[in-house]
Amino acid sequence: MDTKQIVLSSRPKGIPQLIDFRFELTELANLKDEEVLLKPIYFSVDPYMRGRMNDAKSYIHAFQIDKPIEGNALATVIESRSEKFKPGDIVMGMMPWKEMLIVSDKELIKVDSKQEPISYYLSILGMTGLTAYIGLMHICKPLAGETVVVSGAGGAVGLVVGQIAKIQGCRVIGITGSDDKVKLLVEKFGFDEAINYKTTTYMSNAIGTVCTDGVDIYFDNVGGEISDAVMNNLNYQARIAVCGQISMYNSTVVPVGPRLEPILLSKSATMRGFLVNNFRSEFPDGIDYLTNRVKEGKLDYSETIFQGFGQLPNAFLGLFSGENFGKMIVKV
Ligand code: NDP
Repeated sequence: MDTKQIVLSSRPKGIPQLIDFRFELTELANLKDEEVLLKPIYFSVDPYMRGRMNDAKSYIHAFQIDKPIEGNALATVIESRSEKFKPGDIVMGMMPWKEMLIVSDKELIKVDSKQEPISYYLSILGMTGLTAYIGLMHICKPLAGETVVVSGAGGAVGLVVGQIAKIQGCRVIGITGSDDKVKLLVEKFGFDEAINYKTTTYMSNAIGTVCTDGVDIYFDNVGGEISDAVMNNLNYQARIAVCGQISMYNSTVVPVGPRLEPILLSKSATMRGFLVNNFRSEFPDGIDYLTNRVKEGKLDYSETIFQGFGQLPNAFLGLFSGENFGKMIVKV
């Protein structure tokens, strides 16, 4: 049987372009023992995948030229030679960008098909929610009454961070890239204030104006000049979780900024980078927390869903121009 796949045709220089992807037909091999034939339902596209397009050593291996891109996905089991899964099961795992695919049962976990919407397993009840929960609760340890600033606030992770911080009794300021997102963050998701970084000339002053008591916690999803501006407003013993640096993922030169050590020293601040996968022991508690808050109606969520397998490259590129509010997902 032939199926469509999307491969990396060239390594992007700067912002990825459609030409860096190629659609092609490929033949599916025969199903072997302990393998399943899957039909994807949803693919997640994520900023970290940009790093995998470079030929560089990192915490996860690089995509190979002329080989399919891969990402987290939900799929239906169509045929099974595995004892773990039967046809009709819904499974989650890393999957190549193919319309039909065969994978080893070791790479997959079964999910509850009754979860509504099921795409939440790729967003608030999956890695995205866990990243927000672990970064905020385990790294930043928020206390009621503290001021929390979140960059990338209208994105998949930021939207959850801001709401958990509100549940913890904090004052929450979001930084995001459009007036519509500002409005949604404040009016629908309970942020106290939000700043559109694209229309604000002096970010440091703008943050100082809304954070009248200074910044106790900074959850950093973007890095670069936005983060420099937040750092100017830190309080004594501030905590900074370095979650993502999307503003630099397409840099073609080594980004240079102000020296942060004097601020960290004089404010006795703690800055810590983290990778969610290094906190696996915390996942069960995190999933419990997120599932319960969603059920109680205390955590709301948003997904931007592109329709059709062919939209995968566009959805991925849209992450860098801010086309998503909440999690960016493609419905196959
Ligand atoms: P998002 O859903 O936030 O998608 C990207 C968003 O970033 C866009 O919508 C856009 O929103 C914003 N953005 C894009 N380019 C820039 C830029 N140059 N400057 C400022 N903002 C920009 O992604 P996620 O929520 O999934 O991830 C957020 C960050 O966390 C990413 O950097 C990601 O790599 C990282 N991450 C880290 C993990 C970890 O384990 N440490 C795990 C998961 C994610 P806007 O309209 O605001 O510009």
